[in-house]
Amino acid sequence: MDTVDLAVVGGGVIGALIAHEAVAAHPEATVAVLERGLIGQGASSRSAGVHFPRGATARVRSMTEHSHHVWERLAGELGLPIREVDATVVATGDADNVRATYLRLGDETSPADPDRGLAAPAGARAWTLHGCHYADVQGVAGRVLAALRDQVTVLEGTEVTEIAADGDGHRLTLGHGRQLRARRVVLAPGPWIAHPAWAELVAPLGLRVKKIVAAHLEASPAPDAPLTVFHDEDAFLLPLHERGHYLFSYTCDRWDVSPDDVGLVLERSDLDDARAVLGRFAPGLVDRCDSGRVFCDAYSPRREPVVAELRPGLVFAGAAGGSGYRLAPAIAAETVAALDLTPSRTVSQPRQRQS
Ligand SMILES: Cc1cc2nc3c(=O)[nH]c(=O)nc-3n(C[C@H](O)[C@H](O)[C@H](O)COP(=O)(O)OP(=O)(O)OC[C@H]3O[C@@H](n4cnc5c(N)ncnc54)[C@H](O)[C@@H]3O)c2cc1C
Repeated sequence: MDTVDLAVVGGGVIGALIAHEAVAAHPEATVAVLERGLIGQGASSRSAGVHFPRGATARVRSMTEHSHHVWERLAGELGLPIREVDATVVATGDADNVRATYLRLGDETSPADPDRGLAAPAGARAWTLHGCHYADVQGVAGRVLAALRDQVTVLEGTEVTEIAADGDGHRLTLGHGRQLRARRVVLAPGPWIAHPAWAELVAPLGLRVKKIVAAHLEASPAPDAPLTVFHDEDAFLLPLHERGHYLFSYTCDRWDVSPDDVGLVLERSDLDDARAVLGRFAPGLVDRCDSGRVFCDAYSPRREPVVAELRPGLVFAGAAGGSGYRLAPAIAAETVAALDLTPSRTVSQPRQRQS
């Protein structure tokens, strides 16, 4: 049976960043990423990939700040598919709340943009927001792991079907019948929180899975089109330049779905809901709203990401509630800090790729 210092279960953007952080902090550690499908094919593949510097709590604001710097650095070092974008926050409520929520809020600006079909709701104010970008999240996960291939074993098409305590470590049973021994295990399963291999361990965290819908608008964004964040509605309008259309993300309130049966196609009610929210801010775009993307994500009771040791040496990381891309570097840093990855004499040396 092969043995590693760290097995990361789940090859989404959070699993990829955890592998990156683990190797950076412990270059001598042997690390394997186990992914049931292909890297980045879970929630990460559907993500809008928006990073905006904001957080409703002090912890999330601090995670945002950390992640902001890591994404900035990795984008250059690894050539990640990330594009900076100007941004505006529109809000009708308490301006102090807006100022407390967003880092890097700039000058006040006009909340209306008739050229793009945006109307200002009564009482709306707007501010520029600096430091925003959006990413091809599946591409990011793939690129991060591609750069680690000499140090990290990536096993795709490999489902983890059982995790058993085994002395001072863990024995993972894989779908194709082989086993892997790991001193430490991280579960980064995205919305697959109820997989039988860990459902009982994860249950005490009280996580739930919510459907997420983002509509695609058939309108070509100008090269300098900004991201518009509708603060009151937790919605945003994003120019997806590489794809040649806008994306409108709004809050879908359908809870307790499963990633295996939520479906990848829009229901009629999804488009009706998207159009209703869009109509309040961008009536000129409602008749362009005919398609979109659907999936789901895990949410915690506190609406903050979770990094929690479920039993000695086995840590859950995720439940970032629709913010798992933008907070992935901070989640990874907290996760690696929660693991004791100091070298053990019983563990084999890192596997080097044959040249
Ligand atoms: C439509 C949509 C829009 C979004 N927009 C944004 C956004 O703008 N900004 C933002 O920050 N976030 C956004 N999110 C949220 C973000 O995409 C997720 O939080 C993030 O991708 C979660 O990453 P992850 O690695 O935890 O999960 P995933 O990407 O789902 O990865 C988990 C992986 O675990 C694997 N797995 C599951 N079970 C097993 C098993 N038994 N064995 C082996 N592997 C297993 C899965 O195959 C999967 O690849 C959005 C999400 C959606 C759905």
